[in-house]
Amino acid sequence: MTQHLVSVSGGKDSTAVYLLAMESGRPFRAVFADTGNEHEQTYEYVDRLHERTGGPKVEVVRADFTKELARHREYLLREWPKQGIPDAVVQEAAALHEPTGNPYLDLCISKGRFPSRMAQFCTGELKEIPITTQVVGPMLRNGPVLQWLGIRAAESRNRARQPRYNHHESGSMVWRPIFRWSIDQVWDIHKRHGIERNPLYTMGMGRVGCMPCINCRKSELRAIALQFPEHIDRIERWESIVAAANKRRSATFFPAVTDPTDVDRPGTYSRIRTLVEWSKTGRGGRQYDMFFAQQAGGGCASDLGLCEGADHG
Ligand code: SF4
Repeated sequence: MTQHLVSVSGGKDSTAVYLLAMESGRPFRAVFADTGNEHEQTYEYVDRLHERTGGPKVEVVRADFTKELARHREYLLREWPKQGIPDAVVQEAAALHEPTGNPYLDLCISKGRFPSRMAQFCTGELKEIPITTQVVGPMLRNGPVLQWLGIRAAESRNRARQPRYNHHESGSMVWRPIFRWSIDQVWDIHKRHGIERNPLYTMGMGRVGCMPCINCRKSELRAIALQFPEHIDRIERWESIVAAANKRRSATFFPAVTDPTDVDRPGTYSRIRTLVEWSKTGRGGRQYDMFFAQQAGGGCASDLGLCEGADHG
C-alpha cells in the first residue's frame, strides 16, 4: 500500500498540503527538516501543528556533520602546516571543527564557507538528504512512498516548469497537489481549518524559511534586521566562526561583494552587518543594489522544493 509523506516547512504552502492530506482521509506522516537557522516562531508553529489541526505530529530530522568535521579537521592538521599556515591559525581552526550541534553552522564550518545561489548546497545537505535518508529510505523498505510537496507554479518561473508528478532519485514518487493553486486558495484552506498562518507572515516576511535565507531580498533583510536583530547578531557570530575555521580567514553570509562605491569602506568585503546597514539606508552600495536585484527571493532549485519561495504572481 502506498505510504504518504508530507514535507512541512512551517510556511503557508506546505501547511496547505498538510491540511489537504488531512482532507483526503488517507493516513500520512509529516516531516520537517530543521536547518538550525529557523525562526523560533517556525519551530513553535511546526511543533504544535498537530494540536491545532488534529493531524499527525510533525517529525523532525536534522543533518549531522560530525564525520565531515572530523575528516576536515584531520585534513587541515595534516596539510595546512605544509602550506606555511601559522600554527596558531591551524590550532584555532582545528578547535572550531568540534560539532556545535547546529546543522547550518556545522555544514558551513565543514565546507569552509556559507552557501550561495551559485553553490546552494544548503537545501540538499540540510533538508533533502536528511529527509531522504532518515525518513523516505526506511519507509521505502515497507512499500511505495508518495511525497506530497507544497510547490506552486506562481512561486517562480523555475517552479512553474516542474511536473505535477515525477519519480525521485530516492525511489519515491513526488506529487505537487497545489501546483496550480493561487495564494487565495492557500489561505482559504487555512481558514477552512481555522488555522492561523505562521505569525512571521504578519511581521513582514514574504516567505518562511531560514532566518535569513541566502536568497532573501533587500526588503526581507531590512525587515529581519528591524524586527529580529538577534538573528542578525547570530549570523554575525557565525561569520566570525566560519572565518576563523578556514584558511582564507574570511567568510560572509552573502557572497563577498566588494563594493568600490561603498562610501565608508570602499572595496571591503561585505559582512552581514554592512549589508544590513545598507538595506536600511540604501546609501552607496551600487554593487549591493545589483546583487539584491538578482536575488530569487527565496526558494530552491531542488526537485523537492523544500524551501519556500516568494510569490511572483
Ligand atoms: S531557506 Fe534558503 S538558506 Fe535555508 S536551506 Fe533553503 S535556500 Fe538555503
